[in-house]
Amino acid sequence: MKLFGSSGVRGLVNSDLTAVMAEQIGVASANFSKAREALVARDTRPSGLMLENALISGLESGGTSVKRLGILPTPVLAFLTKKKKADIGFMITASHNPSEYNGIKVFNSDGLAYNQKNQNAVEKIIEHKSFARMDWKSVGHDSVANEDKLYLEAIEKEIRLNKKWHVIVDPGCGATFSLAPTILQRLGCKVTAMNAQPDGWFPARSPEPNAESLTLLAEAVRMLGVDAGLAYDGDGDRAAFIDKKGCFVDFDQVLAAYAAHVISEKGRGTIVTSVETSMCIERMVEPRGGKVVRTRVGDVHISEMMKKTHALFGGEPCGAWIHPQFHYCPDGILSSVLLLGALEGEDKDLAEIVAEVPKYPVIRRSFGCRNELKEKAVKQAGEAFKSVFHSYKNVSTIDGFRLVLEEGWLLVRASGTEPLVRVTVEGESLNAAKQIMEKGAESMKKLLGNDYS
Ligand code: MG
Repeated sequence: MKLFGSSGVRGLVNSDLTAVMAEQIGVASANFSKAREALVARDTRPSGLMLENALISGLESGGTSVKRLGILPTPVLAFLTKKKKADIGFMITASHNPSEYNGIKVFNSDGLAYNQKNQNAVEKIIEHKSFARMDWKSVGHDSVANEDKLYLEAIEKEIRLNKKWHVIVDPGCGATFSLAPTILQRLGCKVTAMNAQPDGWFPARSPEPNAESLTLLAEAVRMLGVDAGLAYDGDGDRAAFIDKKGCFVDFDQVLAAYAAHVISEKGRGTIVTSVETSMCIERMVEPRGGKVVRTRVGDVHISEMMKKTHALFGGEPCGAWIHPQFHYCPDGILSSVLLLGALEGEDKDLAEIVAEVPKYPVIRRSFGCRNELKEKAVKQAGEAFKSVFHSYKNVSTIDGFRLVLEEGWLLVRASGTEPLVRVTVEGESLNAAKQIMEKGAESMKKLLGNDYS
């Protein structure tokens, strides 16, 4: 049985993820962690309270007492779990997925998301139904608390903005609905908020912030003539940006620009990102004295590697940025505030800072492949690529198979959910990207034939 994925448990409410399962996750987590106290928060989804109640029943039946924090962004729950020295934290969210989804993400006492090993241990208890339920005298207690202040104070203490930025904040009716406008205001910004009512039906836009879902924000930025638009995903661990001309800011480019700023400030240091991120990050970070380390896709892997390498900054080009001076959970509000600070430091606006980052063409293609053969196909494709692109400069098998070439790179990875193997190519030029993909696709077709689909 596979309950937990790379971001905890996630699925369609009442089919993949039921209240019964949430209760079992609660008691199994209480048993595995032996936690005395847990913090529980949720995003704005309609199913949030149902799952929260079930999860808490399970936790308390396993002997863990619970503090209900209400609706909060995921990073704030992670931050408070560490700050309040709670033994474990639970976030009920499906992040950027639509309303019909929900999920449960678990954090340990240092604010890091549960890794595969811990998740497997919880899963095993559920699989074997080996729940240990407490004697009636030892069930956990239940309380309600509002701890937003601690997070607000931490940000106010660490971050100063000198300019009076006029920004439009778009929480998309998600978990940042109150904290994002409040924090920006407290830091001296002139804030116009849109979609800032908590509503897990996400009536205004998709909870996944991207160029498509933020067209209204972009229009508002243009019409009101403000400095920037700041948007967050459903649970607030991702941020996306609109520049003052009303253009969506490319995720790869702004990640590289901010990483370059961090390295320039320190003169050296490590930046962590995943195998899928554009090579523009190396082009920006290396000449400034920094080093880029790449990991498997997924913010849990990035956090773990950042801890290991004492990295200064890390992130993925979906807007999930990790700032280790605060904590190791991607944090959308913090990212937007720190980005404004970086713009002040560089004396540039968003469009200007991003214009310094080269943009390389990316081509993606998918190839049908039966689920049970995906891993084998990726391995064979990797070997085939090594001979097709025999003058490759570097090879990595951290996640799939990634070859660095003279004029770009290519990556072959199994899809996590679909019967597909995906090839991604980035080239110095469109021509180079096309040529690499052509050669790659040819050998994929040769390899996969009829046996794999
Ligand atoms: Mg998220």
